[in-house]
Amino acid sequence: MSIEIDYERLRREMVRRQIASRGIRDEALLEAMARVRREGYIPSWLGEFAYEDSPLPIEEEQTISQPYIVATMIDALKIGRSSRVLEVGTGSGYAAAVLAELASEVYTIERHASMAQAAHDRLRRDGYHNVHVQHGDGSLGWPENSPYDAIVVAAGGPRIPETLKRQLKVGGRLVMPVGKEPGLQQLVRVVRTHEDRWTSEDLGAVRFVPLVGEQGWREEPTSAPAPRPAPVDEDARTAIMRRCEPFVDHDSADLQPLLRRIGDARVVLVGESTHGTSEFYRLRARLTRELVEKHGFTIVALEADWPDVARIDRHARDLRVPDEAWEAFALFPTWMWRNEETREFVEWLRDRNLGLPAERRARLAGLDLYAMSNSIAALLGFLDRRDPAAATLARERYACLTPWQRDPAAYGRAAVTGAYRSCEGEATAMLRELMRKRLDQARRVDERWFDAEQNAHLVADAELYYRVMYYGGADAWNLRDRHMHRTLLRLLEFHGPAAKAVVWAHNLHLGDASATDMAARGETNLGELCRAHHGRDCYAIGLGTHHGTVAAASHWDGPVEFKRVRPALEGSWERLCHETRTPGFFLPLRGEEDDPLRRALERPRLQRAIGVVYRPETERHSHYFHADLPRQFDEWIWIDQTSAVTPLPTRERDGVLETWPSGL
Ligand code: SAH
Repeated sequence: MSIEIDYERLRREMVRRQIASRGIRDEALLEAMARVRREGYIPSWLGEFAYEDSPLPIEEEQTISQPYIVATMIDALKIGRSSRVLEVGTGSGYAAAVLAELASEVYTIERHASMAQAAHDRLRRDGYHNVHVQHGDGSLGWPENSPYDAIVVAAGGPRIPETLKRQLKVGGRLVMPVGKEPGLQQLVRVVRTHEDRWTSEDLGAVRFVPLVGEQGWREEPTSAPAPRPAPVDEDARTAIMRRCEPFVDHDSADLQPLLRRIGDARVVLVGESTHGTSEFYRLRARLTRELVEKHGFTIVALEADWPDVARIDRHARDLRVPDEAWEAFALFPTWMWRNEETREFVEWLRDRNLGLPAERRARLAGLDLYAMSNSIAALLGFLDRRDPAAATLARERYACLTPWQRDPAAYGRAAVTGAYRSCEGEATAMLRELMRKRLDQARRVDERWFDAEQNAHLVADAELYYRVMYYGGADAWNLRDRHMHRTLLRLLEFHGPAAKAVVWAHNLHLGDASATDMAARGETNLGELCRAHHGRDCYAIGLGTHHGTVAAASHWDGPVEFKRVRPALEGSWERLCHETRTPGFFLPLRGEEDDPLRRALERPRLQRAIGVVYRPETERHSHYFHADLPRQFDEWIWIDQTSAVTPLPTRERDGVLETWPSGL
């Protein structure tokens, strides 16, 4: 499934959310920002981050400024249609393009020859003929074309160069980051009020790469910004070491204290900071076995699609499986559930289940909603056997979606752009029909009817999901997590008031979203919804690691690779845990507000999330977010060094990946 990025829309959103909402009112500037194609000024592999609210890395270890900072600087320059502008530090050429939209002529200088050339080419490509790019030391300005109405310096120097001040017209404005330390500056605006007089004002703290040149820093600092020893947060580290329950080997770690803390909770959420770490699967399986064997848990719910897990579940409970090809988890990312670690757990569950009467067997279930086509197929197959008239009706209704089964994201795009009609009516009508049929008492308790109805729910929610996904942003994420939560609630309800569930999913789904920067983006998640619904009857556990290897792809739909997990970044929870120099520990976090541990830990830090895609090259941007750990989880489990899961072999047969356990 490949998803085209709708840059136009992202750009408008960026202007609205990051710039206009922060108080920049100049219409011409907002329009200029909405026109310049920032994605054309960054390395192509960063394309999806083009409109993020942050600076991005470009060539020669330089950065392209955060859009808001570009807007702030240009706003302070007060540029008019007839302005002549000098920019020092062309970089990618992005800011020059925005300036070119507003001014009459833009002169820009870059000290790296290759960057000057690349920026020149991009600006020509985009039709900016009023920009003149030069290679050289801009700290001396560009006297030939002076005086200027405005000068902007996009790199930080120790002071404002006299030469630049003299190249301003009287009344002209200059904006530049100034600071005694390379890498940390105040943004300063200077106005030349008379031939020999300038005023200066401070516009706030910023971080720019250094201005290197005669009027700037002498040389590029080798370890920019300023070399400082990594600070160790002693209080937090000591608090963790005092309170944690350390272990050496997760296979033999004592789970009893954790089980006591879980107590009577009805829903236990067990997260993971990657989708491909063996230790996480094995520890989660150990804990779940205890919960199933000794604590009455009968539902193991996975971040996987309903119809796929239904097949594995039939195997685990030995219900008579119809003779159909085993195709569960045949779609990307196969290794996430088709791995030795999961198989070992399922085989254990099956062995245990076989010794028990059917009603006491523990089940597996999938909470996720990607597999629209598998759900349609499962539902039609079921109705063919049980209610042929309903099957005919279902075929008619789902005919609207069937042409898109291979690429539901393309359906979403076509439906939203009007290229194809929306199938919403059909999908929800089918769901209503099944819910009506299940009103019949016998069907309410019939597991196969329950299964069929979940497939109809999945199709209806996925139909909406793929349309909403077209717009990007919080709505699609929320829809997916709400679907997972409702599926979990329906499972608990179906299996009766005593039913208890363990959920296996990513930390991003299970840690309370309101304690992370997901909240600022308007995102909720399964963990937050469970907490709101079950209160202290929900126990959320996060799992994290510092370094090792992981199974992940380099891009969506790519093959599985074994990648090295980089040591965690300074300022992250992972770095803090690593500094305890403990191979593993349990850290109970559910204290009172004035608990010294909570107080020592309470502040947002970076946290790493590796999904089915891992891009170590852009790790900070792609994989870190901020979280307030003690509010996010009830418990944190740490395994310092970890290794990749072992995927089961896949074979392609008739164009379909044949999946585990083959031969069933
Ligand atoms: N405005 C740029 C961001 C520039 S980053 C953009 O939109 O992408 C700062 C740039 O200033 C870097 O490319 C760096 O190489 C350049 N630079 C640093 N010192 C310089 C100097 N003395 N003269 C010209 N360019 C300089």
